[in-house]
Amino acid sequence: DRTPLIAGNWKMNMDHVQGITLLQKLAWTLSDAKHDYSRVEAAVFPPFTDLRGVQTLVQGDELDIAYGGQDLSQFDSGAYTGDISGQFLNKLGCKYVLVGHSERRTIHAESDEVLNAKVKAAYRHNVIPVLCVGEGLEIRQAGTHVQHTLDQLRADVEGLTAEQAAELVVAYEPVWAIGTGEVAGPEDAQEMCAAIRAELTELFDADVAAKVRLLYGGSVKASNAAAILKERDVDGVLVGGASLDPAEFANIVRFES
Ligand code: 13P
Repeated sequence: DRTPLIAGNWKMNMDHVQGITLLQKLAWTLSDAKHDYSRVEAAVFPPFTDLRGVQTLVQGDELDIAYGGQDLSQFDSGAYTGDISGQFLNKLGCKYVLVGHSERRTIHAESDEVLNAKVKAAYRHNVIPVLCVGEGLEIRQAGTHVQHTLDQLRADVEGLTAEQAAELVVAYEPVWAIGTGEVAGPEDAQEMCAAIRAELTELFDADVAAKVRLLYGGSVKASNAAAILKERDVDGVLVGGASLDPAEFANIVRFES
């Protein structure tokens, strides 16, 4: 009963004009194919500068496509040059926000302490966090990837209520599989998602854990999505590169057909 979530992370691609064109093409493709949005939810994560245009298009054409920011500030407002408040995202109609993408963890040195504050900020402003966790290549090779990923998870969800946790989305993205063409096998995705769900049962309870949607991300394409999504504990995918091609992304959204 967890509705699969197919999410496209545009990263720093698509200016606000290109973004609108991409979203329009995606919406046309899905509507031509008579996609049933109640069975599979689609979401896009455009750059901040695109969000106002995305809101206008989605609301104007009544598209059933959710959208969100790629990051938010842990603070609500004030002297934080360059940062974006969850309040602003909420006002733009964002349903979701990515928190702790590996590119934020590395390039912007975001610690688990900061990410925990960002997760809480998202809830404060009624935006659902899509918390990204996952290990780098060295950790995978050392065989400590489960422990590493669960350590991130525990630190990042610290202090959430069960009610908040039940709404959470967690994306497992092994860093070595991002943008490399190297896909973790469906069984690797399942192994980690099962471990994450077990950890959520420990931290909260089985009811909460059963509600949380767990996504896999890393070189997902239309040709490999269905096999990954067949796994029991995988409830969706977070797609980078392939989400920039509307036909390809639409085929991932339509993985069931
Ligand atoms: P790719 O799909 O380009 O590997 O990116 C994955 C990702 O980082 C999505 O957030």
